[in-house]
Amino acid sequence: MTLDNILEEINKAQTIVILTHENPDGDAIGTGLALYNALKLYGKNPEFVVPEFSRVYNFLPGADEIKKEGSLDKYDLAISVDSATSRIIASGDKYFETAKSKVVIDHHGSNTMYGDYNYVNPDAPACSQLLIVILDYFNIDIDKEIGTCILTGIITDTGGFKYPGVTAETFEFVAGLLKKGVNVSSIYKKVLQIRTKANFELVKIATDRLQFLENGKVAFTYITNQDELNVNAENGDHEGLVDIGRDIEGVEVSIFIRETLEKGLKISLRSNEYVNVSDIALLFGGGGHPRAAGCNIKTSIEQCKERILAEVKKLLK
Ligand code: 5GP
Ligand code: MN
Repeated sequence: MTLDNILEEINKAQTIVILTHENPDGDAIGTGLALYNALKLYGKNPEFVVPEFSRVYNFLPGADEIKKEGSLDKYDLAISVDSATSRIIASGDKYFETAKSKVVIDHHGSNTMYGDYNYVNPDAPACSQLLIVILDYFNIDIDKEIGTCILTGIITDTGGFKYPGVTAETFEFVAGLLKKGVNVSSIYKKVLQIRTKANFELVKIATDRLQFLENGKVAFTYITNQDELNVNAENGDHEGLVDIGRDIEGVEVSIFIRETLEKGLKISLRSNEYVNVSDIALLFGGGGHPRAAGCNIKTSIEQCKERILAEVKKLLK
């Protein structure tokens, strides 16, 4: 089975690099660090390479050991976590493509199975939840530190246990983590409750600009690069802006556009009941989950809005 193959690759490898997607969220960083800490416990010396991530996650065990660049050009084994395609890996996928062996651990239904071994389960509400199963299988003890990283992934990707993907198993797993001493309320506060001042300023701007379209079934808003400069935004400060529109009564689809310097416009899509936003993101070369997806488009904000809206309209009831 896949997990036996993955363990064999880990055992064989002298050098291991862990990678995840750009603009990494709590699940990306949490899963990567959980795996990083677990592989160290297992006697390996992995590297977790992430060029940029939000300082919100600095409290996680091992965060201070995350590397902006790999120390090698070529690794025996690359493990990608929480990333549906190799294209969205934050290091520009160079370490992944050159590695002798490639492993993918993910929970996106749109995963393209780009590894030699792919452990992908879209039923898991967070990629980090998969690590509980994997580490159990490998007989690696999940201690408080690893559990803290795993729970951070679960809390962020389930919006604090409130998204429909949450299962009885999620709570059973979390109960197990609590028994290891993992502090739910402290993690919850750090990753979901406290906002940076810059994020608060961006919330004000995005709220002010929010438009209701299609009889209130669609909410649209955006922020420009200049907005981010004006409020001294750092990496991650735009997180959650797409939720503002999603959480308003009657809205089915929330569209949020953010200007980026390197990749044109970044579109975040959320839905509430029935529109599969992953299908829309796929049309533009992106992907994600049925209720949360994203893509990049190089055009003006106004044109981008119209192009996305045209696809959303086709799926509205
Ligand atoms: P967000 O809107 O928070 O950036 O992303 C929401 C979800 O869509 C995440 O699960 C993320 O992995 C996925 N996603 C966002 N942007 C892209 C993209 O450009 N390509 C792919 N394949 N998935 C994306
Ligand atoms: Mn995830």
